[in-house]
Order: sequence, then structure tokens, then C-alpha cells
Amino acid sequence: MSGYTKIVVAIDLSGESTIIMKRALDVAASESEIHLVYVQEPMDSVYMGVVPYGPVFVGMDEVEENLKAELKQKLNGIGDEFGIAADSRHFLNGTPAREIRCFAEENDMDLIIVGTHGQKGVQLLLGSTANSVLHGASCDVLAVRIFDAE
Ligand code: AMP
Repeated sequence: MSGYTKIVVAIDLSGESTIIMKRALDVAASESEIHLVYVQEPMDSVYMGVVPYGPVFVGMDEVEENLKAELKQKLNGIGDEFGIAADSRHFLNGTPAREIRCFAEENDMDLIIVGTHGQKGVQLLLGSTANSVLHGASCDVLAVRIFDAE
């Protein structure tokens, strides 16, 4: 019995998400609620400053909508694979670390599970999202070790 009753697992939908999900199921008790969270960052916040404003942004809304549909499909695929109920899969928008922390706080989660690293790679000891979640979280945080494939 882990003692954690409400667990939020934040995944970036990369291949490492499977490792994080397996660990979450190890840690959870049979009666624990498990919530799966993915946060889509608005494209203008990702690319602003890299690409100047202008015609390059024409059609971006459509690109973003298509991307959203694909990402939702991926989230559902992982939810199906690990037996997470449809209403416990949460597709959010905004800044990942902030949204993960807010979700945990607003929904009275007692554990947040993240990977030490996401798809941006293993350059740092702790990825920026994991680091930021850890600093502001109102509950325990488990950072699942993601090893460098090389
Ligand atoms: P990073 O700090 O970006 O290397 O990612 C570390 C971990 O934070 C990932 O393994 C996920 O658990 C979580 N994470 C990163 N980005 C997202 C996202 N967009 N949505 C949900 N969780 C995320």
C-alpha cells in the first residue's frame, strides 16, 4: 500500500512515457485514482522570438488544431494501453510545469509523477519541466529516472 490515493502522471507523449506509466502503476495502490495529464504549449509561445511575425503564421491555427487532434489520439492510446479511464485523461493547454502543478493543487492530488527528462533529451540532471514542477508543487513529486539511451 503506497499511501497515495490521488496520483497525477504527467507525460510528454514521447517514448519515455511508457517507462513513467509503468512506474506509476508500481507505485499506485489498487484503490488509487490515477490521472494522466498532457499539456500542449501554444505554438506562438514556442516559436515567438525564433520566427518573426508575418506571413509565416498564416494557417498556424489549422496546423495547431491538427497537431492537437494527433496529440489527443496519442494520449488516448497511452490511456488505453495502461487502463486509464477516459475521464481521467486530461489534455491541457499552457505552460507544462505550471499546468501540472495547478492541476495537482486544484484536484487535491497527493502525488505528481514526472520523468527526470522528456523528449528534449538528457542534457541536464533534471529536465526543466521536472525541475519547475518540483519547486512549486504542493504535494510529493516522484521523478522517474530516464536514462540516456547512448
Ligand atoms: P523535461 O523537463 O521537458 O525534460 O520533461 C521532464 C518530464 O516532465 C517529462 O518526462 C514529463 O513527465 C513531464 N513533461 C514535460 N513536458 C510535458 C508536457 N507537455 N505535458 C505533460 N508533462 C510533461
